[in-house]
Amino acid sequence: MTQKTALVTGAARGIGLATTRLFIEQGWRVAMVDRDGDELASVAKGINEASPFVCDVSQPDQVDQMVTEVRATFGRIDAVVNNAGVADFGPIADTDFARWRRVMETNLDGVFLVSQACIPSLKETRGALLNIASISGLRASTLRVAYGTSKAAVIHLTKQQAAELGEYGIRANCVCPGPVRTKLAMAVHSQEIIDAYHDAIPLNRYGTENEIAEVITFLCSEKASYVTGQVVASDGGFDSTGVGLP
Ligand code: NAD
Repeated sequence: MTQKTALVTGAARGIGLATTRLFIEQGWRVAMVDRDGDELASVAKGINEASPFVCDVSQPDQVDQMVTEVRATFGRIDAVVNNAGVADFGPIADTDFARWRRVMETNLDGVFLVSQACIPSLKETRGALLNIASISGLRASTLRVAYGTSKAAVIHLTKQQAAELGEYGIRANCVCPGPVRTKLAMAVHSQEIIDAYHDAIPLNRYGTENEIAEVITFLCSEKASYVTGQVVASDGGFDSTGVGLP
């Protein structure tokens, strides 16, 4: 059987690294993409069946070159996981344009650019796009104007992709993680926010990277062959409650 290849962005750590490891356990090869070359090189060294590609997903030229290199290395792309992201906690009044753009460039432009560059490859394999948004894209809060707006846009972009690319057999789905103790989250989650999440989430805890990765790899697999245009929250039940974001 042909070995499938997944391209995972933001693969040097956190949810992207857990997703890389799970794909490999499930028999896939992985193109690990990240802009942090040092962290990527050191982690990729220990992973068979994966190759590192240094790329800032917000830069169109770097994205085009990276996708060309992934094609040259693996010969095919069966799934693209747009996971690279940056966090930002700021209300409207404190969010100057540079701060707004920094978030949009990675969280939204990056998803658009990587997806677009991979479409010719995904047409060949009738592959899958999987975009990582967030519960912050489902619920507004007083603190996350740039981050939440970028993630809400990713949810809509996913639906656009599903509508437009279905005729080529390409599926597009979106996963909205709840809080996970990664470097991204713990840089902005105070003890007060951690406690508030524990109270607000029906399962009363943060999720793990692996719990998110299980949903991602399922949606990219043949088991989800009739699922497209969907937004799946992996959030301990938080979105079902109607409680506001801490
Ligand atoms: P993380 O900081 O551990 O990992 C993010 C990775 O993305 C890093 O390796 C970083 O170098 C890379 N990256 C950032 N900007 C990039 C760019 N422009 N080009 C290439 N690589 C870039 O974070 P994580 O928590 O694993 O986040 C992964 C995704 O999950 C993000 O999209 C994030 O918004 C989303 N998410 C996380 C949480 C959470 O609580 N951790 C909750 C909801 C959604």
